[in-house]
This record gives sequence, structure tokens and C-alpha cells, in this order.
Amino acid sequence: MEELLRRSEKLTTVGQLAAGVAHEIRNPLTTLRGFLQLQQQTKRMNDGHVDMMLSELDRINLIVSEFLILAKPQAVSFQAKDVRIILQEVLSLLDSQAHLYNIEFVKHFDQEIPLVNCEENQLKQVFINIIKNGMEATPSEGEIELRVEARGTNEVVIIIKDYGIGIPAAHLARLGDPFFTNKEQGTGLGLMVSQRIIHNHRGTMDITSELNQGTEVTIALPAVEVVEDQKTSCPLLRSGAPM
Ligand code: ADP
Ligand code: MG
Repeated sequence: MEELLRRSEKLTTVGQLAAGVAHEIRNPLTTLRGFLQLQQQTKRMNDGHVDMMLSELDRINLIVSEFLILAKPQAVSFQAKDVRIILQEVLSLLDSQAHLYNIEFVKHFDQEIPLVNCEENQLKQVFINIIKNGMEATPSEGEIELRVEARGTNEVVIIIKDYGIGIPAAHLARLGDPFFTNKEQGTGLGLMVSQRIIHNHRGTMDITSELNQGTEVTIALPAVEVVEDQKTSCPLLRSGAPM
């Protein structure tokens, strides 16, 4: 019974999401159709129209690709990884963009960090989504702080902090709702996708923010358990991801 309930809840969410995606895609499609119809009837399409059509097409593409991350089969391969390395790779990826906007990444990585069981590409996606949000919230120059800390022996905490525009209290509760965005080019899918991924990793994600002060995203992930192998007495990573 509980399982049934859980499954039907899941279906409802997926159904709502699909309806949302359909809605978001229909708008740009209507615009595209309008311009083509204009061309067919009056042959009056100009460069401006073509530009608008291209940007509507880009928008559809962005929505579909963000949505696809959710639709991909989950739990492809979970492996024990050092999140500092994953985070560093993401920073290198975003470096040129940060440079362009005079944004500096400031790292505080603890020396001793346990490994976490993760799907590396999914975690990368989360870090990209959150750091990008931080960059987009930072006006013209500023810092984004990245911390990686061990919390006890069984948790790794990643904190991503910006000093940007912040989030009004009234909006905090709506973060992670699909399609909630206040950006012209936003999809409002980044945080929802990130939350799902972290949830699939049995972790938590919390966001605190103050208007005009900045935003802090805290992700906690369970560390890989290290067990002593009795025969060789060398520490082994417990295998078999729970996902
Ligand atoms: P998108 O970035 O496409 O708008 P997200 O799901 O990534 O979608 O974010 C949803 C909304 O949450 C953003 O439009 C923005 O209003 C708010 N938000 C998220 N992160 C931040 C941040 N670091 N600073 C300010 N606002 C943020
Ligand atoms: Mg975003």
C-alpha cells in the first residue's frame, strides 16, 4: 500500500513536470509558427524575425536538455570519489566565464576528506548549476567561495557561497519548484534537477539567502564507509553502492 502510494506520488510529479515542459515548449513553438505563417502569407520575414526564431529554438533546446538529465536512467555507476577533484574540474570548466565577469573562485578545501559514493557526472551537473546561479547573481565582480569539509567521519559537506543579489524571503520557499525563475533566459529547472540528484545520493541540500547580501548552498553527502579488512588489516572501501 505504501509502495503504491509512493509510486502514485512519483507519477503525479512526473505528470506535472511533463505538463510543465509541454507548456514551456508550446509558447516558443507558437511564436515560431507565427513567424513562418507571416512568411508564407506576406513574405515579410526579416532578419529580426530570424533572430527571434533562433532564440526561441535555443530556448526549446535548453529546456529539453535540462529535462533530459532527469529522464536518463538513474544510478549508472556509483563510485567512490574525492569531491574536491570533481569540484576542481567544474571550476576549470567555468573559469573562462568567471574571468569574463571578474568573478574569483576562492577555495577552502580541508586536507582530509573522506570519499563519497557518487555518479560523477551527475554531481558535476549539480556543481555547475549552483555555481552558475551564483555567477549569475553576482553583479559585475565578486567572489564565490567554495568549501569542502568533513563533518565527522561519515559526512562530506560542500558549501557554495556567493555575495550577489540574494533571494527575497518570499521566493525562498519556491526554490526548486520546476520553472520557477526570475531570469529572462532561465529555465527554472537547475535547482530542481540538483535537488533530485542530491536526494538520489542520499544527501541533503539547503539554501540560505539574504537579499543583497548573498546566497549559500550547503550540500551534505554521506561518506564512503571505511572498514578494516580483518585478514590483511588494510582499510577497504565498502563496496556496493546503496543506490
Ligand atoms: P534558473 O537559473 O534557470 O532561473 P534555477 O532552478 O537554477 O533556474 O534557479 C531558480 C531561481 O532561483 C533563479 O531564477 C533565481 O531567482 C533563484 N536563485 C537560485 N540561485 C540563486 C543565487 N545564488 N542567488 C540569487 N538567486 C538565486
Ligand atoms: Mg540556474
